[in-house]
Amino acid sequence: ARRDPVLEVSDYMKRYGAKIAVSGISLEVEPGDIYGFIGHNGAGKTTLIRSIVGVQGVDAGTIRVGGIDVTTDPVATKRLISYVPDNPDIYEYMTGISYITYVADIFGVPVDVRSERIADLAKRLEITDALGDAISSYSHGMKQKVVLISALVHEPKLLVLDEPFVGLDPEASFELKKLLRELAERGSAVFFSSHVLEVVEKLCNKVAVIRQGKLLASGPIDEVRGNESLEEVFMELV
Ligand code: ATP
Repeated sequence: ARRDPVLEVSDYMKRYGAKIAVSGISLEVEPGDIYGFIGHNGAGKTTLIRSIVGVQGVDAGTIRVGGIDVTTDPVATKRLISYVPDNPDIYEYMTGISYITYVADIFGVPVDVRSERIADLAKRLEITDALGDAISSYSHGMKQKVVLISALVHEPKLLVLDEPFVGLDPEASFELKKLLRELAERGSAVFFSSHVLEVVEKLCNKVAVIRQGKLLASGPIDEVRGNESLEEVFMELV
């Protein structure tokens, strides 16, 4: 039986000024999917992601999250989404724990549930001891971990991550892969961008390939990987 998609992109287009950056993108992400959005730098991954999470608009086509159009009811769709941007740009004057608590408050996570989850996530990402320190004292990787914890603390229906493995140390990358698998097993959907084929092959059941703003292929990873006409494109993604 087919399940209702968590994320449905239909003929999406986005332009910057007169220039069409991305067009003709259609894809579906279902509950339990770990969906890889792969393409080289500048292909247009961040552009689509920013429209999905509602930090920029859509110039043509539609994006639905949980069946709701992100441009007509962004308040409703944002409640279903967690977003981990490629650059962990977070409030420097807060401490790690105050930032995570602030996000948990926005999403209404009960205090007892949240403290257990935060403690568990912090331990797994090895940042427990630093959570009381100001974010301004953190390295890039530590900021990323705080954003990840705040994104996972409310169990989003759709977790969207932009190049999440760039800048993470190997231990944290390994742990993040496990966390994403566990979230998907609980029935949420994960959608993330990457320019590295190996990461996507190891982690994803489905994939979309974007090049110069156009979708080249999408679907189950084995089907897309088996498409011989894409061999040259895949060679760019190392
Ligand atoms: P990266 O991983 O390097 O961010 P990407 O695949 O996410 O790459 P995008 O950032 O989505 O690619 O960029 C797609 C295209 O749109 C590029 O040609 C980029 O120069 C252009 N672009 C992106 N943002 C803007 C903007 N705010 N104004 C003008 N052009 C933009």
